[in-house]
Amino acid sequence: MNPIPRFHFAHLPTPIEELPRLSAALGGPRILVKRDDQTGLAFGGNKTRKLEFLVAEAQEQGARMMISAGAIQSNHCRQTAAAAARFGMECTLVLTGEMPPRPTANILLDQLFGAHIVNVLDRKDRDRILQETFDQAAAEGKKPYLVPYGGSSSTGALGYAFAMEELLMQLTGRTPSSRRTRSSETVDWIVFGTSSGGTHAGLVLGQRVFGFKGKVLGISIDESVEWLQKNVSALASSASERLGKRIEFAPADVAANADYCRAGYGVLTEAEREAVHMFASLEGLLLDPVYTGRAAAGLIDLIRKGFFKKDETVLFWHTGGQPALFAEKYASIVE
Ligand SMILES: *Cc1c(COP(=O)(O)O)cnc(C)c1O
Repeated sequence: MNPIPRFHFAHLPTPIEELPRLSAALGGPRILVKRDDQTGLAFGGNKTRKLEFLVAEAQEQGARMMISAGAIQSNHCRQTAAAAARFGMECTLVLTGEMPPRPTANILLDQLFGAHIVNVLDRKDRDRILQETFDQAAAEGKKPYLVPYGGSSSTGALGYAFAMEELLMQLTGRTPSSRRTRSSETVDWIVFGTSSGGTHAGLVLGQRVFGFKGKVLGISIDESVEWLQKNVSALASSASERLGKRIEFAPADVAANADYCRAGYGVLTEAEREAVHMFASLEGLLLDPVYTGRAAAGLIDLIRKGFFKKDETVLFWHTGGQPALFAEKYASIVE
C-alpha cells in the first residue's frame, strides 16, 4: 500500500497540561488539557492536523487552489487559507452569514492570507454556490481541490487518528507532554467539541487502532446525537481503509452528548460565558466562544452533576478557535 501523503507543518506533539485550579473549583476529577490550540499554523486549532493530509492530497492531485466553505467566523476557513498561502496555492472561501461592516477576527485573517471570499447570505444557497464556485474555477483551469466543511473527509479525519497515537505516546512517557504532567498517565475520558465530525471520527478510529482504553465523548456544538453517531461512524469506517484495512464502526460505537447546543450554532448563552471566564480566570487559558466554550460548558455541567468519578482523569482536548474572541459578534462573552 502507498504511504498516505502528508505534509508536516503542525507543531507536534502539542503539550498536555494539568488544570488543578479548575478541578479544585469544581470539586471534580483530575482535569488535563491537550493544547491543540497550539498547533502552530495561524493561531492553531484542530484543522491544522486535518490540513496536513488535505493539502498533501490536493498537491498530489495537482491542485493549485483550495476551495472550502463555512460560517463567517470559521476557524476551519482561516486555517485553510493559511495553509494555502503557505504552500503557494490560491484559496477561495464560501462564507455564509452577514459580513460585518469592518472585517475582524477570522475574516480579517482570511483576507491577510489572500483568500478570495464569496459571501452567501442564506445557508440554503450555500451548497449550490460552493459547487458553482468550484465548477467555475475548474473551467478556468485553476485546478481546485474541494475541502469539505470542517475538513471532515476521510482524508482529514486521519489527522485525529494519528493525534490519538500521539496522545498515547505521551501518556506512556515515550514522548514528552509538558513539565506540568506526570511521566506516565491514565486518561479515563477524552472530552471535546464536535461539529462536522472529522475530529470525532479520527479519535474513534485512533482509539481502536492504537488501543486507547478510556472513553471518547464529543460534546455537540450544533448537531443531534443521531446525526453525529451516523456520520462519525461512517467517516471513521471509511478513514480506516486508508490505514490498510476497513474497520466497520457502528453508530453505537460513537459517544456524543447534544445537551448543550439547544441555543444553536454560535448563539452564546450564560453557560459558554461562564466556561470562558472560568478557564481564563482560574488557569489563564483561553477558550473560544463557539466551540471550546460550549464544549467546556458541557464538561463543567457534567462535573457538577457527578458524571465523572472523583478519582478519574478527564482530558479536555482543546480544539482552538480563540481568534473568534475578537469578533464583534461575540464581544458579549468577554465583556
Ligand atoms: C471545527 C472546530 C471544531 C469541530 O471539529 P469538527 O472536526 O468539525 O467536528 C471544534 N473546535 C474548533 C475550535 C473548531 O474550529
